[in-house]
Amino acid sequence: MLDNISAIELIKQFICCKREEYKESFPNLIIRDDIFGLLERNAIVVYYPLADNEIDGFNVVRMLNGKKVNFVYINTARELIKQVFTAAHELGHIWKLDEYLISKGIDSQYIKDNEEQLMNRFAAAFLMDSDVFKHDVGEKLLEAERDGKAGKGRIRKNELLSIAAFLMDKYLVPFKAVMQRFIEVGFLMSEAEVDGILESKDDLSTLKEIINVESYSRLLVPPSKKKSIGDNLAVLVSNCLNDSDVNGHNLSFFCKEFGISLNDRLSDGGLIDVSGDALKQ
Ligand SMILES: [Zn+2]
Repeated sequence: MLDNISAIELIKQFICCKREEYKESFPNLIIRDDIFGLLERNAIVVYYPLADNEIDGFNVVRMLNGKKVNFVYINTARELIKQVFTAAHELGHIWKLDEYLISKGIDSQYIKDNEEQLMNRFAAAFLMDSDVFKHDVGEKLLEAERDGKAGKGRIRKNELLSIAAFLMDKYLVPFKAVMQRFIEVGFLMSEAEVDGILESKDDLSTLKEIINVESYSRLLVPPSKKKSIGDNLAVLVSNCLNDSDVNGHNLSFFCKEFGISLNDRLSDGGLIDVSGDALKQ
């Protein structure tokens, strides 16, 4: 758990600035899978399913036509909620949250040591706006109290899981992120208790049951296994053609995998002709 209160406050400010910057095209406080559109505005996003891989996603910076470009990979073999969280996490890297925090006086060693946690905190706060989230939790608690399932600062475990499932569906985020957010906004409880729930197979199967019974459709969709690259695909392919490390066989495999027609029009109006010499390397 992050203990640097100034860093946490600064993440909130950082989010306010970014919301302001993108408010025309992304006005909703609850961003859900719009996060992919936002990410695509800031990076070339490669979607590809790698079922047996530990990787949820990553971000690399490469030179493209003399400019630094961010590439983000999203593993689409993961559930949608996981893909959404990964996209928000990577956006934190791309928007250089770390540099923002350093510029505001946070110790750079602290940031280095906690970078991934800071990005997760950013992702959670960005996807689950604290005011809206607190309001939702408050409403659900009142309901639970009315039904005799909560009161005097205590809540039944099943009711807690049921509120978590509701919030997962509403914000399109993983269970772990909701539980963590509960602590962050002061609704719950100790980290140890949360860890206990996250590690309990019984609790997780109860959660699954609740999701099924409530028919939370966003949580029930299977992984998309989407294969695609952003709008700059034609430029990318054209770049590969000029790259002596990429042979024609690999390129044609790549095009086939992503469903790219080898005669796709380049964004500058030219045509990529990969049917000729380029494929004979
Ligand atoms: Zn990261």
